[in-house]
Amino acid sequence: RAKLRGERRISFFDSEIQAQVVQHVLLEEELRNALAENQLVLYYQPQIRKPNQLLGYEVLLRWRHPERGIVSPAVFIPIAEQSRLILPIGRWVIEQACEKLAAWQSEPTTSELSLAVNVSIIQFQSNSFVEQVGQILEKTGAPPRLLKLEVTESLLMNDPERITEMMNRLRSMGVRFSLDDFGTGYSSMSYLNQLPLDQIKIDQSFINEVTSNLANSAIVESIIGLAKGLNLEVIAEGVETEEQRDWLANHGCQNFQGYLFGRPEEI
Ligand code: C2E
Ligand code: MG
Ligand code: MG
Ligand code: MG
Repeated sequence: RAKLRGERRISFFDSEIQAQVVQHVLLEEELRNALAENQLVLYYQPQIRKPNQLLGYEVLLRWRHPERGIVSPAVFIPIAEQSRLILPIGRWVIEQACEKLAAWQSEPTTSELSLAVNVSIIQFQSNSFVEQVGQILEKTGAPPRLLKLEVTESLLMNDPERITEMMNRLRSMGVRFSLDDFGTGYSSMSYLNQLPLDQIKIDQSFINEVTSNLANSAIVESIIGLAKGLNLEVIAEGVETEEQRDWLANHGCQNFQGYLFGRPEEI
């Protein structure tokens, strides 16, 4: 009897997995045309410095699917990575961001705004990534110091020496780096001062309950201290309430991103 139940359970999971595989293959097929069909759009979410200074925006990709509506990057970025479609897509995102930075140069109210672009490990695996970014900066005329690349700790999982070298070459062009989702990965702390970083971004999962959960408060306090000690800028993401903002400001974090200040939207 137990065996029967077990078998049933296995076949239930089988069909579940099968449906997921079918869905994945379908989405991958559709994603192949998304760029050419102008279905990919960029949303921009403000980054604020206390008390109310607009520093710039994080660029967040959306897929406006003709039947499914807006598809979240949490769904399609993994598919884009596995299929390597992230290479042309990621390039397009950097091009769009740099064109915007260049267009902003003619207005004093926008000329100092920065754009933070998320970069996938797959893009760093491509040998031509550094040259590609250099060419885009040159072609568009965007000031490199206003382009901030967001990388995650997972980038360092294989060949950290090679990644560090690529980051150093980009940094010598003037490009800046932020370490995204900090605290959720499992990279060694010792890499932190070897990497050419400008900023650490505290993951939103810690910000969530920062005022009410003692463990989260302790983690966030220590990340802020770590950033200070390493002379890095620190920004909190996922700030939704005034209480969270005030707690962060009182504990030494002056830079914020989150629904309290603005949702990602087209600009
Ligand atoms: P991320 O880089 O950590 O981006 C932050 C995510 O938090 C965004 O989700 C943003 O919409 C969301 N968020 C911002 N403020 C709040 C808040 O106050 N509360 C809550 N609950 N959420 C907030 P989104 O736009 O769905 O993006 C998810 C992830 O997809 C990003 O995480 C990033 O890893 C990836 N992604 C987005 N665009 C790109 C891209 O162009 N290239 C690559 N490689 N990855 C991207
Ligand atoms: Mg990010
Ligand atoms: Mg993040
Ligand atoms: Mg994230």
